[in-house]
Amino acid sequence: MPPKQKNELYKESARKKDVRTSNIEAAKAVADAVRTSLGPRGMDKMVAAPNGEVIITNDGATILQKMTVTQPAAKMLVELSKSQDVVAGDGTTSVVVICGALLKKCQELLEKGVHPTIISDSFSKASAKACEILESIAIPVDMEDREALIRAANTSLSSKVVSQYSSLLSPMAVDAVLRVMDPARPNMLDLRDIKVVAKAGGTIDDSEMVDGMVFDQKAAKSAGGPTRMEDAKVGLIQFQISPPKTDIENNVVVSDYNQMDRIYKEERNYILSVVKKIKASGCNVLLIQKSILRDAVTDLALHYLAKAKIMVVRDIERDEIELISKTLGCLPIAHVDNMKPEKLGSAKLVEEVEVGKGRVVKITGIENKGRTATVLLRGSNKMVLEEADRSLHDALCVIRCLVNKRFLIAGGSSPEVQVSMQLAHWSKTLQGMESFCVRAFAEALEVVPYTLSENAGLNPINIVTELRKLHAAGEKYAGINVKKGCITNMLEGDVVQPLLVTTSAITLATECVRMILKIDDIVPTR
Ligand code: ADP
Ligand code: MG
Repeated sequence: MPPKQKNELYKESARKKDVRTSNIEAAKAVADAVRTSLGPRGMDKMVAAPNGEVIITNDGATILQKMTVTQPAAKMLVELSKSQDVVAGDGTTSVVVICGALLKKCQELLEKGVHPTIISDSFSKASAKACEILESIAIPVDMEDREALIRAANTSLSSKVVSQYSSLLSPMAVDAVLRVMDPARPNMLDLRDIKVVAKAGGTIDDSEMVDGMVFDQKAAKSAGGPTRMEDAKVGLIQFQISPPKTDIENNVVVSDYNQMDRIYKEERNYILSVVKKIKASGCNVLLIQKSILRDAVTDLALHYLAKAKIMVVRDIERDEIELISKTLGCLPIAHVDNMKPEKLGSAKLVEEVEVGKGRVVKITGIENKGRTATVLLRGSNKMVLEEADRSLHDALCVIRCLVNKRFLIAGGSSPEVQVSMQLAHWSKTLQGMESFCVRAFAEALEVVPYTLSENAGLNPINIVTELRKLHAAGEKYAGINVKKGCITNMLEGDVVQPLLVTTSAITLATECVRMILKIDDIVPTR
């Protein structure tokens, strides 16, 4: 080989090494940024957006999503957290922390001269084995066992800003899920069937589950329409009550008052005829979908609707339509000619009520109520309220995980220590490099107990060594009791979490590490 070529070849591989190292470094930096948020004693982050908006959160996915990350490999960690949010909804910090620890181990292995492909394959095997181990220590849970579900929700809420309200929020999350669960399809759960309305004013203690439906908007009463309706017949309409518009821009030139009158009259007649048809169907509460094409309802229309004693709620979002029609047992109506009594939903009472600093419309006493649930969340200010909303979402996701896979495992890092120990044992049965890599994988998982105790202000080395000892002695549920600052049996301490959260965190983190390992170049494009 001519010397020049040899030289080039060498340079290229150095660059590849550089790309890999810098990728790993960048991803590790992201992982380090969220590490301090892990666990009940973890810190919260204040995210300040350029527009002055401030968010306080403990949720890994939210922190990462708001973080301005530009390095491509670091972005993969943001995506990783997002995937965990989609799959499990909880464990979004854990997944990133585990990924960071695995990457650190990769770096050490690479320095020792292990080929990336070997690391990648061994990690994949180790993660499969880890899931097997987790399944073997998991405890089956029955959906009838409300207490167990509440315990799981409590664990997920214990690390949140709003954790002191978990005795209220956890049962609410569990009851909401149990209410929307269909006995005919017990493995299916759509969280979109649970509507969460967040309203500032009051405290989180005032939050409640509403037996019915709540709309965040007020009733339209500028024209003096009713704000309370008993024995309501609710119509959900998708058409507009306003003069039609042409597709193309055009002008009508009006030269005298006669013509102007004619236009007004024409508009009035049109709207009046629409309102008459609505009234004729027996409808007395009208929910109007938001329209982007033209006014969903004009002032004139509101005036006639008020005269006809029809209560109006405007600005219903398109994506709420399905939930509303499911809850009220009504059908969305796309054209005024389809206003038929059988398409309306019935409720005992529709009423605008004052909640905190604002007003909402409440529908109660719904006949044939569908399998949906509504939670009215309250909080003293927007920041608390938003975090409460995110936390409730996490709790709901935890219950959804249990619906999908009905197993619980202990929390407080006991599963990670157990898996780490068993993997280390298993690595001894393997050969050469593979054994070495699996061993490194096992050690990486100890980042969870290490970080949990660090965040709780305990001595991480003492705690991890103690945990190792207990697990070796067969105490497979021993974990860190963060609140008491010691090691206890996590099942007795009622700290449990869904199996799915931990298995998916380990699997996804491994996938991400393998992806980052296999990248040896960044190709910029325009
Ligand atoms: P994530 O976003 O990953 O869910 P969290 O901040 O919620 O991060 O922390 C989750 C970790 O905290 C899990 O490992 C869980 O076992 C642990 N944990 C939660 N509650 C407790 C508790 N009461 N005692 C000890 N560990 C806990
Ligand atoms: Mg959590």
